Amino acid sequence: METIECKYCDTKISYKTSANFIIFCPNCKRNIYLECEYGYGPVTPCNILLGNEKIGTVNVDENNKYFLEYRFEKIKLNKGYLDALWEAIEIVKKKISPN
Ligand SMILES: [Zn+2]
Repeated sequence: METIECKYCDTKISYKTSANFIIFCPNCKRNIYLECEYGYGPVTPCNILLGNEKIGTVNVDENNKYFLEYRFEKIKLNKGYLDALWEAIEIVKKKISPN
C-alpha cells in the first residue's frame, strides 16, 4: 500500500498501486492522481479509485474502442489512449460530485 495526501484538502489516502490508475479524493472528490505507462505501453486496464475503493476501470474492447466501466455501467469513450483516461476522469468526476 502507498499513501498519498490530497493536495486540496490534506486527506491521507492509502491505495494499492497498479500499472495504470487514477485516484479521486474520497473527501473532496477531486481527481488528485493519474499514473499510467503513457509512452511506454498500454494505458489500460486503468483502475479508478475513490480513496482505496475501486469504483471503475478504463479498458479496450476487441475493436480497439475504449470504454469505462463505472460500478455497473459500461460507458463508451470517444477518445483513445491517454485522452480516453482524461475523458473517463471527466465522466467519473460528474458522477461522484453532482455539483
Ligand atoms: Zn481532497
